[in-house]
Amino acid sequence: MAIREDVLVVGGGIAGATAALAAAETGAQVRLLSHKKSTLRQASGLIDVLGAVGDNGTEVEPSGLVADPFEAVERLPNSHPYRVVGAAGIRDGLRVFDEAVGDAYAGTHTDRNALVLTHGGTVKPTARYPESVAPGLASAAEKTLLVGFAGLTDFDAPVAASHLDAAGVPFEVDGATVPFPVEFRDDALTTRLAKALDTDESGARRGLTDAVADHLDGHERVGFPAMLGDDDRREVRAELEDRLGAAVFEIPTGPPSLLGLRLEDLLFDALDEAGVRLSSGNPAVGYEAADGRIESVLVDRRGREVPYAADEFVLATGGLVGKGIDSDRESVSEPVFDCHVPHPEDRYDWSEPAAFGAHEFARFGVVPDGDLRPTDGSGDADFENLRAAGGVLGGADTAREKSAAGVSIATGAYAGRRAGESVTGREAEEATR
Ligand SMILES: Cc1cc2nc3c(=O)[nH]c(=O)nc-3n(C[C@H](O)[C@H](O)[C@H](O)COP(=O)(O)OP(=O)(O)OC[C@H]3O[C@@H](n4cnc5c(N)ncnc54)[C@H](O)[C@@H]3O)c2cc1C
Repeated sequence: MAIREDVLVVGGGIAGATAALAAAETGAQVRLLSHKKSTLRQASGLIDVLGAVGDNGTEVEPSGLVADPFEAVERLPNSHPYRVVGAAGIRDGLRVFDEAVGDAYAGTHTDRNALVLTHGGTVKPTARYPESVAPGLASAAEKTLLVGFAGLTDFDAPVAASHLDAAGVPFEVDGATVPFPVEFRDDALTTRLAKALDTDESGARRGLTDAVADHLDGHERVGFPAMLGDDDRREVRAELEDRLGAAVFEIPTGPPSLLGLRLEDLLFDALDEAGVRLSSGNPAVGYEAADGRIESVLVDRRGREVPYAADEFVLATGGLVGKGIDSDRESVSEPVFDCHVPHPEDRYDWSEPAAFGAHEFARFGVVPDGDLRPTDGSGDADFENLRAAGGVLGGADTAREKSAAGVSIATGAYAGRRAGESVTGREAEEATR
């Protein structure tokens, strides 16, 4: 039997997951199609909505940190995806996200950005953060101890502490490196350490607190790289707090990121609960269309192209990292629907000499109309029933603006809702005829 849904979302990252959840809220039958695991597994697990905007909106300077992202949206250029969905769209994206993750995340009490400590020893403005990160916010003036492990080179606690101190954080901060109480290979991943704490392997929890106790000198809170358990993380953290007599928090790490993995699990549990059908492991490679509408997406299943039909489609395949946008030496393209991706002819104009400069390539992506539908070179929607969300959209330099997950959930919620409403609205009309 042919596969057919009301809404087909292509891409299983945070944008696709949010789109599918928002579409399901409208009562539509939704399928999420994903090729590989999303970039969430590498991501910090933080939901940055907007952390930096330059005064004229186009030049984003890292020094121009934003306290209230909703107020700062007005200063973004008109080509930015946030200008399509507006502050109301960002709020709706956050609502969908908050309902999906429940009390696993904090930050819902305010519109203002929180300042979270990073593993490099900086502070970062973000809108939502895992509850295990919350006790470590830079705004709390509490004497802080950062703890790293000898074999975990990604996080050097004494260096991170001295960077924070030099940056003038409003609290005393020290760093200590201790041996992890269970012996692993030198390059053991945070996921392996978390498992050892989950199962309390060889008395890992007591061993860890004994090692840290030697460095506790009136410190009111203790920060570890995010590895404090996985399935039993609340129990692990509560036990460490009890033994140390201090608040314990996690600091987001680089890949593989336990906080990113946990977020991916939370989102897929929510999709399951919402009744979204999942198909993973095979890429969308093309489409069939008639009269300006997509009829089906073609999925490569072991060399055979299988059509996945739907009434409405959401493209959420990510940017250059997720392979939603492809580039070779000559050009930049969107590989599934061949949507227009504007870019300078000369490849030397794609980037700036400075590594952290305002690179042109950072804004590469499809150009949406006022309803998030990808447009052709002359500004007309490519297809009536295709919307785009997340990293595949152009116009935002999400790394410099600190807005990546925010853009994904805001545009995902908007695209998913509009897609769902188009179908359920039409069905309601038909029912009343
Ligand atoms: C290292 C790293 C750190 C990050 N840190 C932060 C942070 O601190 N704060 C923050 O807010 N954001 C952060 N992000 C960004 C964030 O996690 C997302 O990457 C971003 O929001 C884009 O999400 P997305 O859903 O659009 O794309 P992706 O996460 O790239 O997901 C795209 C999905 O589409 C699928 N796909 C692609 N092509 C096809 C196809 N042809 N057929 C079927 N499926 C396809 C992919 O397999 C994948 O599942 C970070 C990202 C990375 C990589």
